[in-house]
Amino acid sequence: MNIEHYNSILKSCGNSVQLIAVSKTKPAADILSLYQYGQRAFGENKALEMRDKHAHLPSDIQWHFIGHLQSNKIKYIAPFVSLIHSIDSFELLKEVDKQAAKNERIIPCLLQFHIAQEETKFGFNLEECKEMLNNPEFLQLTHIKLFGIMGMATFTSEMNQVRQEFATLHNIFQQLKSQYFINNEEFKEISMGMSEDYEVAIKEGSTMIRIGSSIFGARDYSKSN
Ligand SMILES: *Cc1c(COP(=O)(O)O)cnc(C)c1O
Repeated sequence: MNIEHYNSILKSCGNSVQLIAVSKTKPAADILSLYQYGQRAFGENKALEMRDKHAHLPSDIQWHFIGHLQSNKIKYIAPFVSLIHSIDSFELLKEVDKQAAKNERIIPCLLQFHIAQEETKFGFNLEECKEMLNNPEFLQLTHIKLFGIMGMATFTSEMNQVRQEFATLHNIFQQLKSQYFINNEEFKEISMGMSEDYEVAIKEGSTMIRIGSSIFGARDYSKSN
C-alpha cells in the first residue's frame, strides 16, 4: 500500500470530492491497513467478492459497487451496499429496486454513462436515460434513490480527450439536473476519475473519485480474477 499516494490524493480531494478506495482483487488485510488510516469508503466490482469482504471486515465500511452488475447477483450485495455507481440499464434499476424492497431498504444509485470511445464500456447515452426518466414505470421505483451519475474516460494518455469526455459527463449531469432533478438536492454526485486521470476529473467537476492501483499497487489478475 502506498500511503504517500493516498495522502496526496486525499489532499487533492479537499472538502468537495470523496475518495473511494478501489480494493477489487486485493486481500482484506490491505483494506484493513487503509481503514486504520481512516478510510471508510471502498469500491469493488464483483458481487461475491464484495459480499465476502463485507462479511469479514468492520461493519462501518461503506461498500461502493463500481462494476457491471448482473441481475442475478444483486441479491448478494442488496442488504448492505452503500452506493451502486454502475446502473447501466432500466432493467437493472428495476431489479435493484426489487431486491431493495425485499431487504426493506432504499439503495442509493448512480447512472453510468458511456462517454469513452471503447465499445467495451457500459452505460446509458443521454437519450436512453431520458426515456427511462420519462417512463411512468420509473416513478414507481420506490426503493432506489438516484444521487447522480458516473462515467469512465477512454484509456488513453491523450489527456485532452480525457478532459473532453469528463466535460461531456459534467454537461450530461447539468442537463439531467435542470430537467429532472431541479428541486432534488440529493442528486449531486458525479463519479469520475481513476488513478491515471483523477486530477483532470477533479478540475472538470468530479465529486467522487475511484482510485485503486495508485493506492494499493498494480492488480494481479493472473490468480483468479
Ligand atoms: C478498477 C476500477 C477503478 C480503479 O482503477 P485504478 O486505475 O486502479 O485507479 C475505478 N473505477 C472502475 C469502474 C474500476 O473498475
